[in-house]
Amino acid sequence: MKLEDSNLLRQQCYLNGQWVGGESDFPVRNPASGAELARVPRLGAAETRAAIAAADAAWAAWRSRTAKERAAVLRSWFELMNQHADDLALLMTSEQGKPLAEAKGEVAYAASFVEWFAEEAKRAYGETIPAVAADKRMLVIKQPIGVCAAITPWNFPAAMITRKVAPALAAGCTVVVKPAEQTPLTALALAELAHRAGFPAGVFNVITGDPVAIGGELTSNPTVRKLSFTGSTEVGRLLMGQCAPSIKKLSLELGGNAPFIVFDDADLDAAVEGAMISKYRNTGQTCVCANRLLVQDGIYEAFAAKLAAKVATLKVGEGTEAGVTQGPLIDADALAKVEAHIADAVAHGARVLAGGRRHERYREGGAFFQPTVLADVTPQMRVAREETFGPVAPLFRFKTEEEAIALANATEFGLASYFYSRDIGRIFRVGEALEYGMVGVNTGLISNEVAPFGGIKQSGLGREGSKYGLEEYLEVKYLCLGL
Ligand code: ADP
Repeated sequence: MKLEDSNLLRQQCYLNGQWVGGESDFPVRNPASGAELARVPRLGAAETRAAIAAADAAWAAWRSRTAKERAAVLRSWFELMNQHADDLALLMTSEQGKPLAEAKGEVAYAASFVEWFAEEAKRAYGETIPAVAADKRMLVIKQPIGVCAAITPWNFPAAMITRKVAPALAAGCTVVVKPAEQTPLTALALAELAHRAGFPAGVFNVITGDPVAIGGELTSNPTVRKLSFTGSTEVGRLLMGQCAPSIKKLSLELGGNAPFIVFDDADLDAAVEGAMISKYRNTGQTCVCANRLLVQDGIYEAFAAKLAAKVATLKVGEGTEAGVTQGPLIDADALAKVEAHIADAVAHGARVLAGGRRHERYREGGAFFQPTVLADVTPQMRVAREETFGPVAPLFRFKTEEEAIALANATEFGLASYFYSRDIGRIFRVGEALEYGMVGVNTGLISNEVAPFGGIKQSGLGREGSKYGLEEYLEVKYLCLGL
């Protein structure tokens, strides 16, 4: 890993404006080879408490700045991220595995939240309400919540941080971030750039270490007013429970089980293209990845054949190699889950149209898997109920629109969904009937900084990005004036 700016490789935590080590540390590995890239501190509850205290101490001055003053610092951070995009992408590919082109795309996507929220916080307008009596005046103002905690996953090591931290900082909150243990280097590089951008000490803190100890403190400490978490539903449920005694505000982006519906009237090539993007991006490791491809009877075989042919053109390898479109899975457990899902499906009658096994590069030490397409999949199989989080496209068959909607909604999750149709009536009917926070219609790519990202049902609470993402970090205060 050869960075242009070697100071972006940080092996200490960023707390209260200082770089801090610990008594012990843990390795960060390249998922393509298992090779150790760096070591970062294994901190715990005591250091988390200190970080929270620093964020609390920094809050009064930070919230007292105008939105425009805060935006200027955020803008510098945005520009530094763009200037160092190549290094950030290389760090990300090295610790996470995604192809370099995707990593660069994520850096731009991550930076876009910083730009957007710096602008948006200037527009956190209040209201005046027509009063109930002649001698009263009624006002609503918006104020930052306070110290916020962010716990983030490894699949988008930069964007999952900026999507939380940028609105928080823009609103006037201060933040303690705990990145995933697999991908702390991107988080620490972002902290280095934040330091250069000029955030005051304590406003933005990044702590690495024991998730249970750090998470325990972040969720129980009464100074923390809000937790924003992206990760599994299981851990989200646990953290929500831990936040209950101190009644913290919560934003949760949890698991999904996205349906991708292809109706007979779809543009077949566009649907195949959309499925490729939605399913195989980040080697199938995104929470909005198509998990179940529901294909109508009349177009099923044609869609299956075209998809399998396209999948065969994907190039598996280390993300830094030229032309690679599929990196490794994050670790051996992820690979084992993909294998278990395929074995279960095949045992219950599914056909393998492409892939189906570990990729030969697996022998070099990385969790490489062949991009896979399964046909004749049924709702009884594990792939129908659980998020696979890998490069497996299971194709279900349906006959009617009603059946497709019922199948699509038959899950406790409700994050992203997709469908392809050219019938305008159907587009409205299905778009409104899908029980999901997001619906992609004739597109497999829906995420950006200006739109509200989030789920319903057990996929979470709250929205990130857009004007709604800023509201998550603001409290509404009502002032009632007697004249
Ligand atoms: P994934 O399955 O994608 O790794 P997780 O929900 O396990 O998702 O992890 C998402 C984030 O939650 C990571 O930063 C991880 O360290 C953190 N995490 C996992 N378990 C806990 C826990 N018990 N308390 C606090 N944070 C946790």
